[in-house]
Amino acid sequence: MLNFDLHNPTRIVFGAKTVSRLDELVPAGARVLILYGGESARRNGTLAEVRAGLGQREVHEFGGIEPNPSYETLMEAVALIQRKGLNFLLAVGGGSVIDGTKFVAAAVDYPGDPWEIMESHGATVHRALPFGTVLTLPATGSEMNKGSVVSKKATKAKLVFASEHVFPRFSILDPTKTYSLPLPQVANGVVDAFTHVMEQYLTYPVDGRVQDRFAEGLLQTLVEIGAEVMAKPDNYDARANLMWTATLALNGLIVAGVPEDWSTHMIGHELTALHGIDHARTLAAVLPANLQVRREAKRAKLLQYAERIWNITEGSEDERIGIAITSTRVFFESLGVPTRLREYGLNAGHIDEVIAQLEAHGMTALGEHEDVTLAVSRQILEAAL
Ligand code: NAP
Ligand code: FE
Repeated sequence: MLNFDLHNPTRIVFGAKTVSRLDELVPAGARVLILYGGESARRNGTLAEVRAGLGQREVHEFGGIEPNPSYETLMEAVALIQRKGLNFLLAVGGGSVIDGTKFVAAAVDYPGDPWEIMESHGATVHRALPFGTVLTLPATGSEMNKGSVVSKKATKAKLVFASEHVFPRFSILDPTKTYSLPLPQVANGVVDAFTHVMEQYLTYPVDGRVQDRFAEGLLQTLVEIGAEVMAKPDNYDARANLMWTATLALNGLIVAGVPEDWSTHMIGHELTALHGIDHARTLAAVLPANLQVRREAKRAKLLQYAERIWNITEGSEDERIGIAITSTRVFFESLGVPTRLREYGLNAGHIDEVIAQLEAHGMTALGEHEDVTLAVSRQILEAAL
């Protein structure tokens, strides 16, 4: 097991009808900005509940944070906060709104051009406004982690930053808030959470037995509930299990003491930035291809994954690995998520541009061994077609 330092300060308030707890969670006298996305939070009544929960506090709203939140839009929120002198943020939405709120929180008092936050991957962040979240889409884990992904439309860049200063103070996880999700978004959530676990589990083994079993428990849960969360939107128990699994998949717990990969995510980010493909859908295409291309380096863990997640115990090692990778693909497709880039309209002619963007963003040595060079990323993209 590797050395680690684990600290997660985010309070989780979980369950039905918990939005009303806002009154005790947000400091009395706070001057609040609610940040949200399009119209879903208003349409399903969450915004009204949030406003009621905030009681007599001064409350302003900033809507219009788009999926894959853009620097351009977020800087408008920064200007509003500065103009009104607001001091507490409340994100109401999915990963995009929460990630966007993290950037805004760090940008408000940033001395210099806030895009540096993204270019330094968070190293230049020394303070941020406090914020909480009301999660409406189980997927990213952003509600309980210090990471954020922001895009710049002008340059088609999608970059990640992380900072201890942008852990949410609290996150309210009410599974009933997910009932209004369109099914493709539910499927995306399952795929994103599954891939988060894989990026931290399917790495070279370091005898992190408890970490492996945490990770395997999350993967097994996702496989078990995948069909249930798709079949019936108001199945409370299925949605509750999905919500908590997605949070645990990326809150720092399963990665403590083990290596992490993230090459699937970094390649996926370029595909979203260039072609607008949903985050999770880029992962569904890249992950199986990535495992295929790197099956030698990941051999021992792939065999463990085959046996413990897919109960594959017969056949040669190579056969078992092949079936495990195919099972992953079949699982994603069972949720209605295509796993081939050509199904998203891409072909071999699109690969050069993706590679150029990876190079421009310094993504030239990815993976837990930093051996995913641009040449390997190219092989992965070719295998993903
Ligand atoms: P999202 O982009 O936040 O939301 C996708 C769509 O779902 C939006 O159109 C939104 O509509 C809708 N929606 C959300 N909640 C809804 C509800 N309860 N009912 C109906 N519609 C609802 O999706 P996401 O998958 O959560 O976030 C993706 C982003 O997170 C990407 O940028 C990705 O790169 C990033 N990410 C971050 C992390 C991290 O650790 N920080 C990890 C993985 C991915 P409205 O706009 O109308 O609300
Ligand atoms: Fe993700």
